[in-house]
Amino acid sequence: SQNVTAFDTIAAIATPPGEGAIAIIRVSGNEAVTTVNALFRGHDLTQVATNTINYGHIVDPDTHAVVDEVMVSVMRAPKTYTCEDVVEINTHGGILATNRVLQLVVGTGPRMAEPGEFTKRAFLNGRIDLTQAEGVMDIIRAKTDRAMDVAEHQVAGGLETEIRATRQKVLDVLAQEEVNIDYPEYDTDQMTANAMRQCAEMVIKDIDQLLQTATEGQIMRDGLATAIVGRPNVGKSSLLNYLLHEDKAIVTDVAGTTRDVLEEYVNVRGVPLRLVDTAGIHETDDKVEKIGVERSRAALAAADLVLLVLDASQPLTDEDRELLTTTQAQHRIILLNKQDLPTAFDATTLAPWTEEADVLGTSVVTTAGMDALADRISSMFMGGIANRQADVMVTNARQAGLLRQARQSLRDVISGLDNDMPLDMVQMDLTDAWDHLGEITGDAAPDELITTLFSQFCLGK
Ligand code: GDP
Ligand code: ZN
Repeated sequence: SQNVTAFDTIAAIATPPGEGAIAIIRVSGNEAVTTVNALFRGHDLTQVATNTINYGHIVDPDTHAVVDEVMVSVMRAPKTYTCEDVVEINTHGGILATNRVLQLVVGTGPRMAEPGEFTKRAFLNGRIDLTQAEGVMDIIRAKTDRAMDVAEHQVAGGLETEIRATRQKVLDVLAQEEVNIDYPEYDTDQMTANAMRQCAEMVIKDIDQLLQTATEGQIMRDGLATAIVGRPNVGKSSLLNYLLHEDKAIVTDVAGTTRDVLEEYVNVRGVPLRLVDTAGIHETDDKVEKIGVERSRAALAAADLVLLVLDASQPLTDEDRELLTTTQAQHRIILLNKQDLPTAFDATTLAPWTEEADVLGTSVVTTAGMDALADRISSMFMGGIANRQADVMVTNARQAGLLRQARQSLRDVISGLDNDMPLDMVQMDLTDAWDHLGEITGDAAPDELITTLFSQFCLGK
Protein backbone atom coordinates (compact mmCIF):
# COMPACT_ATOMS: atom_id res chain seq x y z
CA SER A 1 0.00 0.00 0.00
CA GLN A 2 1.24 3.45 -0.80
CA ASN A 3 1.31 6.12 1.83
CA VAL A 4 1.86 9.27 -0.16
CA THR A 5 3.44 11.88 2.03
CA ALA A 6 3.00 15.58 1.41
CA PHE A 7 6.24 17.32 0.45
CA ASP A 8 6.91 20.77 -0.88
CA THR A 9 6.94 21.22 -4.64
CA ILE A 10 10.34 20.89 -6.33
CA ALA A 11 11.67 21.75 -9.78
CA ALA A 12 14.80 21.07 -11.83
CA ILE A 13 16.06 20.78 -15.37
CA ALA A 14 15.90 17.03 -16.04
CA THR A 15 17.92 16.91 -19.25
CA PRO A 16 21.72 17.03 -19.44
CA PRO A 17 23.28 20.49 -19.29
CA GLY A 18 24.26 22.11 -22.55
CA GLU A 19 22.78 22.85 -25.95
CA GLY A 20 20.10 20.46 -27.24
CA ALA A 21 16.96 20.33 -29.35
CA ILE A 22 14.75 19.93 -26.27
CA ALA A 23 15.23 20.53 -22.58
CA ILE A 24 12.81 19.28 -19.94
CA ILE A 25 11.97 21.04 -16.71
CA ARG A 26 10.42 18.67 -14.25
CA VAL A 27 8.14 19.90 -11.45
CA SER A 28 6.80 17.57 -8.74
CA GLY A 29 4.48 18.12 -5.79
CA ASN A 30 1.02 19.29 -4.83
CA GLU A 31 1.54 22.71 -6.38
CA ALA A 32 3.10 21.43 -9.60
CA VAL A 33 0.05 21.93 -11.81
CA THR A 34 -1.08 25.32 -10.48
CA THR A 35 2.49 26.64 -10.53
CA VAL A 36 3.06 25.87 -14.17
CA ASN A 37 -0.49 26.84 -15.11
CA ALA A 38 0.15 30.35 -13.79
CA LEU A 39 2.93 30.72 -16.37
CA PHE A 40 1.24 28.89 -19.22
CA ARG A 41 -0.76 30.30 -22.10
CA GLY A 42 -2.79 27.50 -23.66
CA HIS A 43 -5.35 25.11 -22.18
CA ASP A 44 -6.13 25.46 -18.47
CA LEU A 45 -3.75 22.81 -17.09
CA THR A 46 -5.78 22.41 -13.92
CA GLN A 47 -8.61 21.09 -16.08
CA VAL A 48 -6.79 18.83 -18.56
CA ALA A 49 -6.86 15.07 -18.17
CA THR A 50 -3.93 13.23 -16.62
CA ASN A 51 -1.13 11.96 -18.89
CA THR A 52 -1.78 14.55 -21.58
CA ILE A 53 0.73 16.69 -23.38
CA ASN A 54 -0.36 20.27 -24.03
CA TYR A 55 0.91 22.78 -26.54
CA GLY A 56 1.29 26.44 -25.52
CA HIS A 57 3.66 29.18 -24.39
CA ILE A 58 5.43 30.08 -21.18
CA VAL A 59 4.75 33.73 -20.45
CA ASP A 60 6.50 35.98 -17.94
CA PRO A 61 3.69 36.95 -15.52
CA ASP A 62 5.20 40.41 -14.93
CA THR A 63 5.98 41.50 -18.46
CA HIS A 64 3.52 39.21 -20.31
CA ALA A 65 6.36 38.51 -22.73
CA VAL A 66 6.50 35.05 -24.31
CA VAL A 67 9.61 33.24 -23.02
CA ASP A 68 9.35 30.01 -24.99
CA GLU A 69 7.05 27.83 -27.04
CA VAL A 70 6.53 24.63 -25.09
CA MET A 71 4.82 21.25 -24.74
CA VAL A 72 3.67 20.56 -21.20
CA SER A 73 3.00 17.05 -19.88
CA VAL A 74 0.59 16.78 -16.97
CA MET A 75 0.76 13.58 -14.91
CA ARG A 76 -1.37 13.38 -11.81
CA ALA A 77 -0.62 11.47 -8.62
CA PRO A 78 -0.22 8.70 -7.71
CA LYS A 79 0.79 6.91 -10.90
CA THR A 80 3.83 9.07 -11.67
CA TYR A 81 7.59 8.81 -11.25
CA THR A 82 7.44 10.41 -7.79
CA CYS A 83 3.87 9.34 -6.84
CA GLU A 84 3.09 13.09 -6.76
CA ASP A 85 1.62 15.42 -9.39
CA VAL A 86 4.34 15.82 -11.98
CA VAL A 87 4.46 18.45 -14.71
CA GLU A 88 7.18 18.39 -17.35
CA ILE A 89 7.80 21.42 -19.50
CA ASN A 90 9.46 20.55 -22.82
CA THR A 91 11.17 23.74 -23.86
CA HIS A 92 12.94 23.93 -27.16
CA GLY A 93 15.01 26.96 -26.56
CA GLY A 94 18.68 26.88 -25.68
CA ILE A 95 20.27 27.07 -22.26
CA LEU A 96 19.17 30.65 -21.69
CA ALA A 97 15.46 30.11 -22.40
CA THR A 98 15.45 26.92 -20.35
CA ASN A 99 17.02 28.65 -17.36
CA ARG A 100 14.59 31.52 -17.78
CA VAL A 101 11.62 29.12 -17.60
CA LEU A 102 13.10 27.38 -14.56
CA GLN A 103 13.57 30.71 -12.82
CA LEU A 104 9.97 31.66 -13.50
CA VAL A 105 8.78 28.31 -12.13
CA VAL A 106 10.88 28.70 -8.99
CA GLY A 107 9.71 32.31 -8.71
CA THR A 108 6.11 31.15 -8.26
CA GLY A 109 6.80 28.94 -5.25
CA PRO A 110 8.57 25.62 -5.86
CA ARG A 111 12.15 25.21 -4.72
CA MET A 112 15.09 23.86 -6.70
CA ALA A 113 15.35 20.10 -6.35
CA GLU A 114 18.47 18.53 -4.91
CA PRO A 115 20.30 15.90 -6.95
CA GLY A 116 18.27 12.68 -6.95
CA GLU A 117 15.37 14.22 -5.10
CA PHE A 118 12.72 13.08 -7.58
CA THR A 119 13.87 9.49 -7.22
CA LYS A 120 14.16 9.93 -3.46
CA ARG A 121 10.49 10.89 -3.39
CA ALA A 122 9.60 7.79 -5.35
CA PHE A 123 11.37 5.88 -2.57
CA LEU A 124 9.87 7.85 0.34
CA ASN A 125 6.44 7.54 -1.23
CA GLY A 126 6.87 3.78 -1.32
CA ARG A 127 6.95 3.25 -5.07
CA ILE A 128 10.48 1.85 -5.22
CA ASP A 129 13.00 0.35 -2.82
CA LEU A 130 16.68 1.27 -2.52
CA THR A 131 17.92 -1.41 -4.89
CA GLN A 132 15.54 -0.05 -7.53
CA ALA A 133 16.74 3.49 -6.88
CA GLU A 134 20.32 2.30 -7.30
CA GLY A 135 19.22 0.63 -10.52
CA VAL A 136 17.97 4.00 -11.79
CA MET A 137 21.38 5.46 -11.07
CA ASP A 138 23.06 2.54 -12.83
CA ILE A 139 20.91 2.97 -15.93
CA ILE A 140 22.05 6.56 -16.17
CA ARG A 141 25.65 5.44 -15.89
CA ALA A 142 25.48 2.19 -17.84
CA LYS A 143 28.28 1.90 -20.37
CA THR A 144 27.28 -1.30 -22.09
CA ASP A 145 24.08 -3.04 -23.17
CA ARG A 146 24.67 -5.77 -20.63
CA ALA A 147 25.10 -3.32 -17.75
CA MET A 148 21.87 -1.70 -18.90
CA ASP A 149 20.03 -5.05 -18.83
CA VAL A 150 21.15 -5.72 -15.29
CA ALA A 151 20.22 -2.22 -14.15
CA GLU A 152 16.80 -2.40 -15.77
CA HIS A 153 16.17 -5.74 -14.13
CA GLN A 154 17.04 -4.17 -10.82
CA VAL A 155 14.66 -1.27 -11.39
CA ALA A 156 11.97 -3.83 -12.14
CA GLY A 157 12.52 -5.13 -8.61
CA GLY A 158 14.38 -8.41 -9.22
CA LEU A 159 16.89 -8.01 -6.41
CA GLU A 160 14.30 -6.51 -4.09
CA THR A 161 12.07 -9.56 -4.50
CA GLU A 162 14.96 -11.90 -3.79
CA ILE A 163 16.15 -10.02 -0.69
CA ARG A 164 12.62 -9.70 0.69
CA ALA A 165 12.03 -13.43 0.28
CA THR A 166 15.29 -14.19 2.06
CA ARG A 167 14.48 -11.73 4.80
CA GLN A 168 11.05 -13.27 5.28
CA LYS A 169 12.68 -16.63 6.11
CA VAL A 170 14.54 -14.93 8.96
CA LEU A 171 11.42 -13.14 10.13
CA ASP A 172 9.42 -16.38 10.21
CA VAL A 173 11.92 -17.91 12.62
CA LEU A 174 12.19 -14.74 14.71
CA ALA A 175 8.41 -14.62 15.04
CA GLN A 176 8.23 -18.29 15.98
CA GLU A 177 10.98 -17.87 18.52
CA GLU A 178 9.28 -14.81 20.02
CA VAL A 179 6.33 -17.06 20.78
CA ASN A 180 8.55 -19.71 22.28
CA ILE A 181 10.37 -17.25 24.55
CA ASP A 182 7.03 -15.93 25.76
CA TYR A 183 5.86 -19.41 26.75
CA PRO A 184 8.80 -20.90 28.62
CA GLU A 185 6.56 -23.59 30.19
CA TYR A 186 6.66 -25.46 26.87
CA ASP A 187 9.87 -27.32 26.25
CA THR A 188 10.44 -25.67 22.91
CA ASP A 189 14.08 -24.68 23.25
CA GLN A 190 15.31 -27.53 21.13
CA MET A 191 12.71 -26.78 18.46
CA THR A 192 13.72 -23.14 18.45
CA ALA A 193 17.42 -23.93 18.24
CA ASN A 194 16.83 -26.32 15.35
CA ALA A 195 14.70 -23.80 13.49
CA MET A 196 17.30 -21.08 13.95
CA ARG A 197 20.13 -23.29 12.77
CA GLN A 198 18.19 -24.45 9.73
CA CYS A 199 17.22 -20.93 8.86
CA ALA A 200 20.76 -19.59 9.26
CA GLU A 201 22.21 -22.33 7.06
CA MET A 202 19.58 -21.81 4.39
CA VAL A 203 19.93 -18.03 4.31
CA ILE A 204 23.74 -18.23 4.23
CA LYS A 205 23.31 -20.31 1.07
CA ASP A 206 21.02 -17.66 -0.45
CA ILE A 207 23.51 -14.95 0.40
CA ASP A 208 26.46 -16.91 -0.98
CA GLN A 209 24.61 -17.23 -4.25
CA LEU A 210 23.93 -13.53 -4.42
CA LEU A 211 27.50 -12.65 -3.48
CA GLN A 212 28.80 -14.86 -6.26
CA THR A 213 27.17 -12.44 -8.67
CA ALA A 214 28.78 -9.47 -6.95
CA THR A 215 32.14 -9.65 -8.72
CA GLU A 216 30.42 -9.99 -12.06
CA GLY A 217 27.98 -7.27 -11.12
CA GLN A 218 30.80 -4.94 -10.20
CA ILE A 219 32.51 -5.57 -13.53
CA MET A 220 29.22 -5.00 -15.34
CA ARG A 221 28.81 -1.71 -13.61
CA ASP A 222 32.28 -0.22 -13.74
CA GLY A 223 33.86 -2.16 -16.57
CA LEU A 224 36.99 -4.24 -16.24
CA ALA A 225 40.01 -1.94 -16.04
CA THR A 226 42.11 -3.20 -18.92
CA ALA A 227 45.61 -2.04 -19.78
CA ILE A 228 47.13 -2.69 -23.18
CA VAL A 229 50.89 -2.59 -22.70
CA GLY A 230 53.98 -3.28 -24.74
CA ARG A 231 57.00 -1.49 -26.09
CA PRO A 232 56.58 0.87 -29.07
CA ASN A 233 55.56 -0.59 -32.41
CA VAL A 234 54.37 -4.02 -31.24
CA GLY A 235 50.75 -3.31 -32.27
CA LYS A 236 49.00 -1.80 -29.22
CA SER A 237 47.22 0.93 -31.13
CA SER A 238 46.27 -1.55 -33.83
CA LEU A 239 44.75 -3.84 -31.20
CA LEU A 240 42.91 -0.98 -29.54
CA ASN A 241 41.52 0.15 -32.87
CA TYR A 242 40.48 -3.39 -33.73
CA LEU A 243 38.58 -3.75 -30.46
CA LEU A 244 36.96 -0.35 -30.84
CA HIS A 245 36.04 -1.02 -34.45
CA GLU A 246 34.45 -4.36 -33.60
CA ASP A 247 32.28 -2.63 -31.09
CA LYS A 248 31.65 0.76 -32.58
CA ALA A 249 27.99 0.84 -31.59
CA ILE A 250 28.68 0.51 -27.90
CA VAL A 251 31.77 2.61 -27.50
CA THR A 252 31.01 5.67 -25.44
CA ASP A 253 32.93 8.77 -24.74
CA VAL A 254 33.08 9.04 -21.01
CA ALA A 255 32.75 12.55 -19.67
CA GLY A 256 35.28 13.64 -17.12
CA THR A 257 38.02 11.17 -17.97
CA THR A 258 41.50 12.46 -17.40
CA ARG A 259 43.23 13.59 -20.53
CA ASP A 260 46.54 11.90 -19.91
CA VAL A 261 45.20 8.45 -19.25
CA LEU A 262 42.48 8.12 -21.84
CA GLU A 263 39.63 5.69 -21.19
CA GLU A 264 37.34 4.01 -23.64
CA TYR A 265 34.75 1.29 -23.22
CA VAL A 266 34.47 -1.75 -25.37
CA ASN A 267 32.28 -4.81 -25.07
CA VAL A 268 33.99 -8.18 -25.53
CA ARG A 269 31.51 -11.08 -25.47
CA GLY A 270 29.45 -9.20 -22.94
CA VAL A 271 32.40 -8.23 -20.76
CA PRO A 272 32.71 -4.45 -20.63
CA LEU A 273 36.36 -3.50 -20.80
CA ARG A 274 37.40 -0.08 -19.60
CA LEU A 275 40.46 0.30 -21.79
CA VAL A 276 43.17 2.30 -20.17
CA ASP A 277 45.74 3.65 -22.59
CA THR A 278 49.09 3.14 -20.96
CA ALA A 279 51.04 3.79 -24.12
CA GLY A 280 53.13 6.34 -22.25
CA ILE A 281 55.10 3.86 -20.17
CA HIS A 282 58.73 4.42 -21.03
CA GLU A 283 61.75 6.10 -19.49
CA THR A 284 61.93 9.84 -19.94
CA ASP A 285 63.73 12.86 -18.55
CA ASP A 286 61.06 15.31 -19.61
CA LYS A 287 59.28 16.56 -16.46
CA VAL A 288 55.82 16.87 -17.98
CA GLU A 289 56.14 13.53 -19.69
CA LYS A 290 57.29 12.01 -16.41
CA ILE A 291 53.93 12.80 -14.84
CA GLY A 292 52.25 10.98 -17.71
CA VAL A 293 54.52 8.00 -17.21
CA GLU A 294 53.78 7.90 -13.48
CA ARG A 295 50.05 7.89 -14.21
CA SER A 296 50.44 5.19 -16.81
CA ARG A 297 52.35 3.06 -14.34
CA ALA A 298 49.68 3.56 -11.71
CA ALA A 299 46.98 2.67 -14.25
CA LEU A 300 48.88 -0.47 -15.15
CA ALA A 301 49.30 -1.49 -11.52
CA ALA A 302 45.57 -0.98 -10.89
CA ALA A 303 44.43 -2.86 -13.98
CA ASP A 304 42.12 -5.86 -13.55
CA LEU A 305 43.37 -7.25 -16.83
CA VAL A 306 46.66 -6.70 -18.65
CA LEU A 307 46.94 -7.35 -22.36
CA LEU A 308 50.69 -7.53 -22.88
CA VAL A 309 51.58 -7.25 -26.54
CA LEU A 310 54.88 -8.61 -27.84
CA ASP A 311 56.16 -8.49 -31.40
CA ALA A 312 56.88 -12.14 -32.27
CA SER A 313 58.71 -11.16 -35.44
CA GLN A 314 61.51 -9.55 -33.43
CA PRO A 315 63.68 -11.08 -30.67
CA LEU A 316 62.63 -10.24 -27.10
CA THR A 317 64.08 -6.97 -25.83
CA ASP A 318 64.95 -5.83 -22.32
CA GLU A 319 61.83 -3.67 -22.32
CA ASP A 320 59.71 -6.76 -23.14
CA ARG A 321 61.37 -8.67 -20.31
CA GLU A 322 60.75 -5.87 -17.86
CA LEU A 323 57.05 -5.76 -18.73
CA LEU A 324 56.83 -9.55 -18.47
CA THR A 325 58.22 -9.27 -14.95
CA THR A 326 56.26 -6.27 -13.68
CA THR A 327 52.88 -7.67 -14.77
CA GLN A 328 53.57 -11.19 -13.51
CA ALA A 329 51.17 -11.06 -10.57
CA GLN A 330 48.26 -9.68 -12.56
CA HIS A 331 45.49 -11.26 -14.59
CA ARG A 332 47.09 -11.08 -17.96
CA ILE A 333 46.99 -12.38 -21.48
CA ILE A 334 50.22 -12.25 -23.46
CA LEU A 335 49.76 -11.67 -27.17
CA LEU A 336 52.52 -12.87 -29.47
CA ASN A 337 51.53 -10.48 -32.21
CA LYS A 338 52.50 -10.25 -35.87
CA GLN A 339 52.15 -14.00 -36.41
CA ASP A 340 51.65 -13.24 -40.11
CA LEU A 341 55.37 -12.46 -40.28
CA PRO A 342 58.21 -14.97 -39.78
CA THR A 343 58.51 -15.45 -36.01
CA ALA A 344 61.67 -14.85 -33.98
CA PHE A 345 60.49 -16.72 -30.86
CA ASP A 346 57.50 -18.64 -29.52
CA ALA A 347 55.65 -19.31 -26.26
CA THR A 348 58.34 -21.65 -24.91
CA THR A 349 60.73 -18.67 -24.81
CA LEU A 350 58.41 -17.11 -22.24
CA ALA A 351 58.65 -20.05 -19.83
CA PRO A 352 60.53 -18.02 -17.16
CA TRP A 353 57.59 -15.63 -16.88
CA THR A 354 54.44 -17.49 -17.69
CA GLU A 355 52.64 -20.70 -18.48
CA GLU A 356 52.04 -21.38 -22.12
CA ALA A 357 48.32 -21.33 -21.51
CA ASP A 358 48.42 -17.58 -20.89
CA VAL A 359 50.01 -16.92 -24.28
CA LEU A 360 48.08 -16.33 -27.50
CA GLY A 361 49.45 -16.08 -31.01
CA THR A 362 47.77 -13.19 -32.81
CA SER A 363 47.92 -11.01 -35.83
CA VAL A 364 45.96 -7.83 -35.70
CA VAL A 365 46.53 -7.46 -39.43
CA THR A 366 44.93 -10.79 -40.41
CA THR A 367 42.76 -10.85 -37.21
CA ALA A 368 44.11 -14.33 -36.45
CA GLY A 369 43.68 -15.12 -32.75
CA MET A 370 41.21 -12.31 -32.13
CA ASP A 371 38.28 -14.67 -31.49
CA ALA A 372 40.45 -16.70 -29.15
CA LEU A 373 41.32 -13.50 -27.30
CA ALA A 374 37.64 -12.66 -26.84
CA ASP A 375 36.93 -16.21 -25.62
CA ARG A 376 39.80 -16.00 -23.17
CA ILE A 377 38.61 -12.70 -21.72
CA SER A 378 35.05 -13.92 -21.46
CA SER A 379 35.90 -17.19 -19.68
CA MET A 380 38.49 -15.49 -17.48
CA PHE A 381 36.02 -13.07 -15.94
CA MET A 382 32.49 -14.20 -16.54
CA GLY A 383 32.44 -17.92 -16.98
CA GLY A 384 30.79 -17.28 -20.32
CA ILE A 385 28.25 -14.88 -18.93
CA ALA A 386 27.51 -13.35 -22.31
CA ASN A 387 25.06 -16.11 -23.09
CA ARG A 388 23.28 -15.83 -19.78
CA GLN A 389 19.99 -14.03 -19.42
CA ALA A 390 19.99 -10.85 -17.41
CA ASP A 391 19.07 -12.08 -13.97
CA VAL A 392 19.33 -10.93 -10.42
CA MET A 393 22.74 -9.50 -9.72
CA VAL A 394 24.35 -7.64 -6.89
CA THR A 395 25.85 -4.68 -8.69
CA ASN A 396 27.22 -2.43 -6.04
CA ALA A 397 29.55 -2.39 -3.10
CA ARG A 398 26.91 -1.17 -0.65
CA GLN A 399 24.67 -4.12 -1.34
CA ALA A 400 27.56 -6.60 -1.28
CA GLY A 401 28.87 -5.18 2.01
CA LEU A 402 25.49 -5.55 3.72
CA LEU A 403 25.12 -9.10 2.42
CA ARG A 404 28.50 -9.95 3.96
CA GLN A 405 27.45 -8.40 7.27
CA ALA A 406 24.21 -10.37 7.25
CA ARG A 407 26.15 -13.55 6.49
CA GLN A 408 28.51 -12.87 9.41
CA SER A 409 25.56 -12.42 11.78
CA LEU A 410 24.15 -15.74 10.59
CA ARG A 411 27.50 -17.43 11.15
CA ASP A 412 27.39 -15.99 14.67
CA VAL A 413 23.96 -17.58 15.08
CA ILE A 414 25.37 -20.98 14.19
CA SER A 415 28.44 -20.68 16.43
CA GLY A 416 26.21 -19.38 19.24
CA LEU A 417 24.08 -22.51 18.95
CA ASP A 418 27.19 -24.70 18.76
CA ASN A 419 28.37 -23.16 22.04
CA ASP A 420 25.01 -23.50 23.79
CA MET A 421 24.58 -19.78 24.16
CA PRO A 422 21.25 -18.67 25.66
CA LEU A 423 18.66 -18.51 22.89
CA ASP A 424 17.80 -14.86 23.46
CA MET A 425 21.46 -14.02 22.79
CA VAL A 426 21.40 -16.02 19.57
CA GLN A 427 18.21 -14.23 18.68
CA MET A 428 20.10 -10.93 18.72
CA ASP A 429 22.42 -12.14 15.98
CA LEU A 430 19.48 -13.34 13.96
CA THR A 431 17.87 -9.92 14.38
CA ASP A 432 21.11 -8.29 13.20
CA ALA A 433 20.98 -10.38 10.04
CA TRP A 434 17.39 -9.29 9.52
CA ASP A 435 18.39 -5.63 9.93
CA HIS A 436 21.30 -5.86 7.49
CA LEU A 437 19.09 -7.43 4.86
CA GLY A 438 16.54 -4.70 5.45
CA GLU A 439 19.14 -2.02 4.87
CA ILE A 440 19.72 -3.34 1.37
CA THR A 441 16.14 -2.65 0.30
CA GLY A 442 15.76 0.38 2.54
CA ASP A 443 13.14 -1.27 4.77
CA ALA A 444 15.46 -0.70 7.69
CA ALA A 445 17.78 2.01 6.41
CA PRO A 446 18.93 4.95 8.53
CA ASP A 447 18.03 8.44 7.22
CA GLU A 448 21.67 9.37 6.86
CA LEU A 449 22.29 6.53 4.44
CA ILE A 450 19.27 7.48 2.36
CA THR A 451 20.44 11.08 2.14
CA THR A 452 23.95 10.08 1.08
CA LEU A 453 22.71 7.61 -1.45
CA PHE A 454 20.36 9.95 -3.27
CA SER A 455 22.85 12.79 -3.26
CA GLN A 456 24.94 10.73 -5.72
CA PHE A 457 22.25 11.13 -8.37
CA CYS A 458 22.41 13.77 -11.02
CA LEU A 459 20.21 16.82 -10.82
CA GLY A 460 16.70 16.43 -12.18
CA LYS A 461 16.52 12.66 -11.63
P1 GDP B 1 52.09 0.44 -31.01
O1 GDP B 1 53.24 1.42 -31.09
O2 GDP B 1 52.40 -0.67 -30.09
O3 GDP B 1 50.79 1.09 -30.72
O4 GDP B 1 52.01 -0.25 -32.46
P2 GDP B 1 51.02 0.11 -33.66
O5 GDP B 1 49.68 -0.47 -33.42
O6 GDP B 1 51.10 1.56 -33.93
O7 GDP B 1 51.69 -0.74 -34.82
C1 GDP B 1 53.03 -0.53 -35.25
C2 GDP B 1 53.17 -1.08 -36.67
O8 GDP B 1 52.99 -2.50 -36.65
C3 GDP B 1 52.12 -0.57 -37.62
O9 GDP B 1 52.69 -0.34 -38.87
C4 GDP B 1 51.11 -1.69 -37.69
O10 GDP B 1 50.40 -1.72 -38.91
C5 GDP B 1 51.97 -2.90 -37.54
N1 GDP B 1 51.26 -4.05 -37.00
C6 GDP B 1 50.47 -4.09 -35.92
N2 GDP B 1 50.00 -5.34 -35.72
C7 GDP B 1 50.53 -6.10 -36.71
C8 GDP B 1 50.42 -7.49 -37.06
O11 GDP B 1 49.76 -8.31 -36.44
N3 GDP B 1 51.13 -7.88 -38.17
C9 GDP B 1 51.88 -7.03 -38.92
N4 GDP B 1 52.51 -7.51 -39.98
N5 GDP B 1 52.00 -5.74 -38.61
C10 GDP B 1 51.33 -5.27 -37.52
ZN1 ZN C 1 50.56 3.33 -30.66
